[in-house]
Amino acid sequence: MHEMSLMGGVFELIEQTLSQHEVERVLQVKLRVGELTNAQPDALQMAFEAYSKDTICEGADLLVERVPVLGRCRDCHHEFNVETMFFLCPNCQNTGIEIIQGEELLLESLEVE
Ligand SMILES: [Zn+2]
Repeated sequence: MHEMSLMGGVFELIEQTLSQHEVERVLQVKLRVGELTNAQPDALQMAFEAYSKDTICEGADLLVERVPVLGRCRDCHHEFNVETMFFLCPNCQNTGIEIIQGEELLLESLEVE
């Protein structure tokens, strides 16, 4: 499952962050998930539960914020929401598009006690 490996990366970040602080329990984990990752919320939740078992993250709430795909035209530098997998600048019809948002899976915040 694709989401398991994504979540593996998230937990490495969580462990790095927590190792610098004294934390008893993690209450909430917030992620920003780009649409291009194709990560499904249900599968992310399952992966989160699997990774958090027997750690201080166990029982924490997982919040997933979906991030739309943003492209930028290499020609006219127009920025736009990419609605389909057909990458075309709506301004000048150029197909040289750079993806500037939507491929990421980021740890947005951790709520701890
Ligand atoms: Zn353009």
